[in-house]
Amino acid sequence: MPIFSVPESLRTWAEVDLGALRANLDFVRQRIGPSPTILAVVKANGYGHGARETVQALTREKTIFGVANLYEAAEIKAASERSDVMLLGPCLPAERNAAVENDHIVTVSSAMEAKAFAAFGKTRINFKIDTGMGRVGCWKDTAISEFKSIREISGIEIHSISTHLPSADEDIAFTTDQLDGFTKLAQTLRELAPKAKLHSLNSAGILTLPEFAGDIVRPGLMLYGCSPIPDFSATLRPALAWKARIVLLKNLPAGAGVSYGRTYISSTPIRTAVIPVGYADGYPRQASGQGCGVLINGKKCNIIGRITMDQIIVNITDLPNVQVGDVATLIGREGNVSIDAQELAHRSGTIAWDILTGIGRRVERLYSEAP
Ligand SMILES: *Cc1c(COP(=O)(O)O)cnc(C)c1O
Repeated sequence: MPIFSVPESLRTWAEVDLGALRANLDFVRQRIGPSPTILAVVKANGYGHGARETVQALTREKTIFGVANLYEAAEIKAASERSDVMLLGPCLPAERNAAVENDHIVTVSSAMEAKAFAAFGKTRINFKIDTGMGRVGCWKDTAISEFKSIREISGIEIHSISTHLPSADEDIAFTTDQLDGFTKLAQTLRELAPKAKLHSLNSAGILTLPEFAGDIVRPGLMLYGCSPIPDFSATLRPALAWKARIVLLKNLPAGAGVSYGRTYISSTPIRTAVIPVGYADGYPRQASGQGCGVLINGKKCNIIGRITMDQIIVNITDLPNVQVGDVATLIGREGNVSIDAQELAHRSGTIAWDILTGIGRRVERLYSEAP
């Protein structure tokens, strides 16, 4: 684990371990073998880890980066000039010109869309097929005829043919059928466009069904060290730890209410610590009263009362020698106890993706190289 030196004046920060990002990328490589290209998904500010640093850590000769919009694409190009960038979702009509001008690989679901892009110049496209996600992509039954029309549009280069998995972490039987269907369909399309690359696997797919890797895989969450499949949690290295300094210590008598709504009433005298992080920083308000805690001096201390916009209150009654300015870990490890993004997500009724991408702007990102 790298050592971070943190100014005493910093209230809350995230420590990002770039070595962990690289190790997780290596694990993807190990899982899929030497041939497939890795399209590292770095949308939403590198899942909250910082786009520029994440991209620099993950850039390899052939890495492609996947993002959600033009703004993110520009950030990636600034960090890794020579890497290809794919816009994973559709573009607005008003975004098409810039997407083409910057030579991004755009995702299209129809010949009409492809034509609109081609009006601005030579365009590389990712033809997406909807095989069960019900979101982006041409519905599978009309994919062949749509694809034939796209091939006739001059100025269109078909970079890839892809699909997306809605249930790879929940329903292997459905996902296997889905991937079998996609593979058959894609083989037909590839007779029409032999150079098109095939891709379908997100993190859960890479972990559970790596034999369907095709030509490109699209890992997101797993690169950041969180596994959508519990069996692989120990294999991946979490790249982010979220910390904050205690700003106030206080004793409360029995019968005192804590935080809005007074949902917590002390039954004995207690000692509390106030931590300057709240839901405005992305700490989920829904975690209130769900048994969440933070780590202080290697011990889990429970959050009591509701999570507020800028602060949470923790019970430190049983912990001696705590000082104002001491560090509390909200996500991460201290000694042999840890709280991971999945646990916080689970307790607050959401998913790890939501927790990581929700970590706010007041949380300064610090970077360190692994030793
Ligand atoms: C976000 C995204 C991914 C990455 O998904 P993870 O579950 O985070 O691995 C892959 N493909 C597409 C199209 C996406 O939008």
